Amino acid sequence: MISIGFLGLGIMGSAMAKNLLQAGFDVTVWNRTPEKCAAFVAIGAHHGASPKAVAAHCDITFAIVSDPAAALALCQGEEGVVAGIGEGRGYVDMSTVDDTTSKTIAQAITQAGGRFLEAPVSGTKKPAEDGTLIILAAGDKSLYDEASHAFGAMGKMSPYLGDIGQGANMKLVVNMMMGGMLNIFSEGMSLGQKAGLDGNQILAIIAAGAMANPMFKGKGAMLLNDDYTTSFPLKHMQKDMRLAIALGDQLQQPLPNAAAANETFKLAIKQGFADEDIAAVHKVIR
Ligand code: NAP
Repeated sequence: MISIGFLGLGIMGSAMAKNLLQAGFDVTVWNRTPEKCAAFVAIGAHHGASPKAVAAHCDITFAIVSDPAAALALCQGEEGVVAGIGEGRGYVDMSTVDDTTSKTIAQAITQAGGRFLEAPVSGTKKPAEDGTLIILAAGDKSLYDEASHAFGAMGKMSPYLGDIGQGANMKLVVNMMMGGMLNIFSEGMSLGQKAGLDGNQILAIIAAGAMANPMFKGKGAMLLNDDYTTSFPLKHMQKDMRLAIALGDQLQQPLPNAAAANETFKLAIKQGFADEDIAAVHKVIR
């Protein structure tokens, strides 16, 4: 079986690396805050000294970190992935970034002789734990084929979307829509409850109709319980809204609803809810 590197043990990376270990892969982990690696070593992982060391040692190295700056930081410098990757080895970045960042990383990896795939994921903490993510892959097709067994351990589907940039773009479309939906959902819940309607009844009626979806169900429970335990950090959603709006600027696509939703997420960060779940945007709206 191929050897796998895994960089980034945050909410998503922890769950994904665990699933790879449970599927029997030989996994080497690295995280910026090294203490987080101990729990993985305890269940059979190796601890890599640096992104460079992991990329040099493993057939395919996966990464999932916060944002474009973090994704670039992993690759650059004397201890970065690019310094270690070597001829023919694979690097799969699963962070949510913009297409320009992904293309910059792809160029650096391929110039160093490696192969690159972008593969951001749709789905949050629970699907990551359950191995039911939707993996949006684009880039080197031979690496995609070789990574498919590992994708199977982390996700329920992994469509191949073509050239580098298209995985990133697909992911931004998904999250831009999710951010907009969450805002209007929070407005509807606030309006209904202020008008004297029962929150559980509002949710049940929405769930029985054409607007039923797992997000309204899950986030609805959080709103009613006033419990914003983090599955998807709000600061990362605002990053995705910002990147989607920048793509809209580039392509001259008007995005008035996404722009309005982005402002609410910005306000939520300003009010101190950056590390809470995306559902905490409700605290600004209600
Ligand atoms: P998270 O819990 O905040 O974890 C972030 C990870 O990035 C940590 O391992 C952190 O290391 C690392 N990191 C941050 N800055 C870094 C840097 N400069 N250099 C190296 N490592 C750095 O985030 P998450 O929820 O797992 O999300 C990770 C990515 O997946 C993001 O792009 C997010 O948009 C995307 N995503 C998240 C979800 C979700 O529901 N959570 C769903 C789909 C996609 P430390 O431990 O040292 O801080």
